[in-house]
Amino acid sequence: MVLHWFRADLRLADNPALTQAQALAEQLAVPLLTVYISTPAQWRRHDVGDARVDFETRSVQALAQDLYAHGIAFHCLTCPDYAAVPQLLLDWCRARGITQVFANRQYEFNETERDRNVHRILRKSSIEITWYHDQCLMKPERVRTQNGDCYTVFTPYKNNVLRQWHTHMQHALPSVAPMPAGTHNTLNLCDVPAMGDAFWGDYTPTPHTHVDWVAGESAAQARLDAFCAETLHRYAQDRDHPSVQGTSGLSPYLAVGALSARQCWHRAQLAVQTQETSELAAEKWQTELIWRDFYRYVMVGFPYVGQNLPFKRNTQGVAWYNDNTAFVAWCEGRTGYPLIDAAMRCLNATNFMHNRLRMVCAMFLVKDLLIDWRWGERYFAQKLIDFDFASNNGGWQWSASTGNDSVPYFRIFNPTKQSETYDAQGVFIKQWLPELRDCPVKEIHAPKNPQQFGYPTPIVAHAQARQRFLDAWQAL
Ligand SMILES: Cc1cc2nc3c(=O)[nH]c(=O)nc-3n(C[C@H](O)[C@H](O)[C@H](O)COP(=O)(O)OP(=O)(O)OC[C@H]3O[C@@H](n4cnc5c(N)ncnc54)[C@H](O)[C@@H]3O)c2cc1C
Repeated sequence: MVLHWFRADLRLADNPALTQAQALAEQLAVPLLTVYISTPAQWRRHDVGDARVDFETRSVQALAQDLYAHGIAFHCLTCPDYAAVPQLLLDWCRARGITQVFANRQYEFNETERDRNVHRILRKSSIEITWYHDQCLMKPERVRTQNGDCYTVFTPYKNNVLRQWHTHMQHALPSVAPMPAGTHNTLNLCDVPAMGDAFWGDYTPTPHTHVDWVAGESAAQARLDAFCAETLHRYAQDRDHPSVQGTSGLSPYLAVGALSARQCWHRAQLAVQTQETSELAAEKWQTELIWRDFYRYVMVGFPYVGQNLPFKRNTQGVAWYNDNTAFVAWCEGRTGYPLIDAAMRCLNATNFMHNRLRMVCAMFLVKDLLIDWRWGERYFAQKLIDFDFASNNGGWQWSASTGNDSVPYFRIFNPTKQSETYDAQGVFIKQWLPELRDCPVKEIHAPKNPQQFGYPTPIVAHAQARQRFLDAWQAL
C-alpha cells in the first residue's frame, strides 16, 4: 500500500507529494491511504492557541470530506508530541503492509528533526519515504547568492526568486483525480474527532472564528477568487488601512495548507491576464507572498532562529526592561494609545490582526515598552488564527530590529502618527474602543482628557520611551 502523510498541506489540489503518491498507487494498482497525526502536547509547547487548532480541526474535517469524495481513505492518529511520531507511524505502516510513504517537507526546527527521525526509523524497516517541496514558491535551497551563500537581504532574494520563477515555474499546478475504480480503498473512513475529543488534547473551540473563516479547500479557493476579482486591484492603496477590507484574509488557509502560495500566485497572474487587476497591484501582493517565502528561507539557512534566538546574535544582549504590568496592559489593550489598544482588543476578540497593526503593536511593545520581542511573539502565537512560526518570528524580528533585513533600530514608529496616517477618521479605533465613541475625531488618536471617557492615560510618553530604547541599543 501507498501512504500520503498530511501535515501543513491540508488540501488535494497542487499537493506535490499527494499527487505522486496517487500516481504510484495507480501504477501499482494498490490502495492509496492518507493519514493525519495530531500532537496536542507539542503544539502547546509551541504556544499554538485554541483558535489556530480550532481552525486546524475544521480544516481536517473538510479535508476528510474531500478525500471521501475522491475515494481516498483517510485516517487520524494521535500522540502527545513529535518524539512519539516515528514509532507510531512505523507501527501503523507495518500493521497495514505499507511500503511507500510520501510527505511534503516542513522547514521549522522541531519539524525538521521529527522528519529526520521518521526517515531513519522507516528506512531501517525497509519502508521508503519520499519528501517533496511544497511550502514555498521556490525551494529554499535553490535560491543562493553568486557565492553560493544564503541571502540575508530581501530585495536581492526576491529578484532571484522572480528570475527563477519566470524561467522554470510557469507550469500548470498538479491536481488529484478521483481514484479509479478497482483501486478504491475498502477500509473504513474515519470520522475526524471534534474539538473536545482527546484527539485534540485540551484545546477548546473558539466559535467566533467560524464566522470569518469557513474551513477547507473550497472555501479557501472561493476566498482567493473573490479577492482577486474584486479587491486585488485596490491592494496597493487599501492594504495599510485596517478599517478597509483591503487584504485577502487568506493567511489562515496558507497556514494550514488548505491553499498553496503557488495557487495564490497563479490566480493573481490570471487576474492580470483577464484584466481584473493591474500588473502593479498583482506584483505588490505577490511580493507579500515572497516575504512569506523569505521567512521560511531564513529558517532553513539560519536554523537557530527557530530556537528562540535573534538573527542578529549581538541583540541577545539588550537590557530589556520587561515590566510585567506594562506587558499585561499591552495584552489587554489598556496602554492609553488608542490604535494599539483597538488592535489588541481586536486580536483578543477575533484572533486576527491586520498587518499594519501587527507591525505597530510589535514595535510599541519592543521599542516603547522595552519588552523582549519574544514575549510578544509568544502572545501572538497563542492568539492568532493564522499563527505560522516563520511569519510570526520573522514579523517580530523585523519589528524589533533583531532580524535579517529588519527595520533599522533607530526607526521607531510614533504610535500617534501611525494612527493619524492609517486610521485618520478613527473608524477602526471607535469600532474596538466603545468608550471613545464620543471622542471628537481631532482628538481620537491622543485624547486630551482620557479619564473623561473612562480611558487610560498613556503608560509611557513616546518621546522618552524612544530615547530609552535608543540608549539600550547603543549600549550593546
Ligand atoms: C509581528 C508580526 C507577526 C506576524 N505573524 C504572522 C503569523 O503568525 N502568521 C502569518 O501568516 N502572518 C503573520 N504576519 C504577517 C502578516 O501580518 C499576515 O500574513 C497578514 O496580515 C495576513 O493577512 P492577509 O492574508 O489578509 O494578507 P495579504 O496582504 O492578503 O497577503 C497575502 C499573504 O501573503 C503573506 N504575507 C503578507 N504579509 C506578510 C508578511 N509581512 N510576512 C510574511 N508573510 C506575509 C501571508 O501568507 C498572506 O496571507 C505577521 C506580521 C507581523 C508584523
